Amino acid sequence: MKKRYLISPGPTPVPEEVLLEMAKPMIHHRTSQFSAIFAECAEGLKKIFCTDQPVLMLASSGSGAMESAVTNVFRKGDKALVVNGGKFGERWGKICEAFGLEVVWINVEWGQAVSVDAVAEALKNNPDIAGVFVQGSETSTTVAHPIQQISELTKNTDTLLVVDGITAVGVYPMPMDEWGIDIMITGSQKALMLPPGLAFISLSEKAWKRSESCDIPHFYFDLKKERKNLAADTSAYTPAASLIIGLRVVLKMMLDEGLENVYKRHDTLARATRAGVEALGLKLLAPESPANSATGLFVPETVDGGKLVKDLRENYGVTFAGGQDHLKGKIIRIAHLGYFDSFDMVVAMASIEMGLLKFGHDVQMGAGVAAVEKIVNERY
Ligand SMILES: *Cc1c(COP(=O)(O)O)cnc(C)c1O
Repeated sequence: MKKRYLISPGPTPVPEEVLLEMAKPMIHHRTSQFSAIFAECAEGLKKIFCTDQPVLMLASSGSGAMESAVTNVFRKGDKALVVNGGKFGERWGKICEAFGLEVVWINVEWGQAVSVDAVAEALKNNPDIAGVFVQGSETSTTVAHPIQQISELTKNTDTLLVVDGITAVGVYPMPMDEWGIDIMITGSQKALMLPPGLAFISLSEKAWKRSESCDIPHFYFDLKKERKNLAADTSAYTPAASLIIGLRVVLKMMLDEGLENVYKRHDTLARATRAGVEALGLKLLAPESPANSATGLFVPETVDGGKLVKDLRENYGVTFAGGQDHLKGKIIRIAHLGYFDSFDMVVAMASIEMGLLKFGHDVQMGAGVAAVEKIVNERY
């Protein structure tokens, strides 16, 4: 027997009470029973997004909501300012290009956050930018981008701020209305503690108004149609009913814990993990602007990170994420977003220490774990 631990930044572990709820016999989605669940989810999501606008629920992975943001709001030929500091920033640009937008790229070194000055300068040089596309947390590099400062640049202008909050919403505060974020997105399999398959999107009044002039064809992802259906406690097409049934429980858990406490828990686990990495003498991938969703670390140069991640998963039963593109084999990403608590980080650090030792790196056993313990003990 081998006990398994899922410590990857998506999918993330699903709480037992959510799994049990989703395992109940299927109900029909065009019923008052399901509509009540749908309505409760819609209300809860507004609190998580910190918005008075409706939060639409789409049956797709997070990228579907990213696509819908482009195809429902913008026009062919619109200029998009895209922050590309990792795989997901690059995806924003690819989606924009696929639908005929003209992309102005801001390339950011992987592991760094975008500089607010660079965004301001690009906006100044291109006064006709229709939208700024950025990640709240760039999961591939474990970086948090300065969304609040960027929102100050777009707030009272015609430019829309489009934020992929897939590993930021429910991790740290990103109040959509207060900051003036125009489009905000998240997905089910990250901080929302659900299996993959749901995406969420909300538009500001400014973004809804802009959508009136949109000329990009779309059919399944029709946000106006979804908004109309949501007002009647239903969805345009068959919803991912089991996931929405699970979502109701997730939202209740998060709101019972209290959003402030949810953010605080993520902050503590993130600080503890970073301290553990440094106590092992390893380098953080994003030392200056780390996201509280996941912590990236460079494996020692003598160790093949790809093999280490595989061995930890297959032999030790602990699943982390490795690196992509030029970081392939060079990093490990330890997740702490969603259903994670103190002792998960102890497991994470212990397994990394043991794995590194096995792969020939000179580790002081327990040094990382001790650093984690010291910080998570603040919680008790
Ligand atoms: C996971 C993730 C996505 C992509 O979501 P899918 O559900 O795989 O489509 C997009 N952006 C960020 C920041 C993510 O972490």
